[in-house]
Amino acid sequence: MSAAGARAIGTDERERQRARLALMSDVLLETTRFFHREGFTQLLPVMLGRSTDPLGPDPGSSVLRTVEVDYLDQRYYLMNSMILHKQFAVRDLGKIWILSPNVRLERPERAASGKHLFEFTQADFEMPRARTRDVQDLVERYFSALGKVLQDHPAFSVLDVAPPHFTLPWRSYTTHELEERYGEQWEEAASQAEEQPFWVHCHRREFYDREDPAQPGHFLNYDLVYPLGFGEALSGAEREWEAERIRTRLLRTGIPPAPFRAYLEHAGDLIPSAGAGFGIERLVRFLTRAPHVGDVQLFRRVPGEVPTL
Ligand code: ASP
Ligand code: MG
Repeated sequence: MSAAGARAIGTDERERQRARLALMSDVLLETTRFFHREGFTQLLPVMLGRSTDPLGPDPGSSVLRTVEVDYLDQRYYLMNSMILHKQFAVRDLGKIWILSPNVRLERPERAASGKHLFEFTQADFEMPRARTRDVQDLVERYFSALGKVLQDHPAFSVLDVAPPHFTLPWRSYTTHELEERYGEQWEEAASQAEEQPFWVHCHRREFYDREDPAQPGHFLNYDLVYPLGFGEALSGAEREWEAERIRTRLLRTGIPPAPFRAYLEHAGDLIPSAGAGFGIERLVRFLTRAPHVGDVQLFRRVPGEVPTL
């Protein structure tokens, strides 16, 4: 990519881009309708927090650093994700969702994955007292509704791509099974092998994902993975909500505690919840079979590329 980021876009590519963005606009409309129908309150996003998602330790995470902003003697963090805010929001408001812009400074090598951006938007939701099954059912209802609404969308003929055909319910695996079958890089291999999205449970990752009290060392979390090599669609979990367990889990990660002081101060009155977040750009990339997730952004944010604007 040239330093100026001036990508030569031909007429055909411009037409494809228009089609992908028209589809995204309708995806956003249906997503809003869906969460509204399901009784969720939509919140406006927070961009600067006294704490944010550490995104790790997670073998899948590769951010260079979290962006810090110093303002009036206070340090703020640009949102990696609103997970910590979601836990408080769900306590105060019940079922909530947010179209949440996230900045994740991914390493430049990540451009080659086709699915990483340094700025993207996720539909991030959380439900009080929910369990894994509730989240899976909700997400499957969402995709089913979305598939129906988009059936006749003109973007598919412009792009020469078949509209989505989801057959539910989707398969569930554990990371242990998939690692055994495909090795450490199971996500790519399993995604290539499947024809429908599938669930993957029990990831060893962030402190806020609940460790199974009945089976320590196992985690009550999940990813949804797109088929045909498109990879991770969504991640989420049942949450740690008891302050003492949160402190212990955080200590175990070895992450410096300073960015979580504010969160820990208030953690005493969290409630049990579960939720997830799915990237809008990855969803539209999957639906439109775009070569790179940056192809569904008008203002591309691909790691290692300098944007035009
Ligand atoms: N929003 C989180 C993330 O960005 C996912 C979650 O809800 O656990 O990874
Ligand atoms: Mg994640």
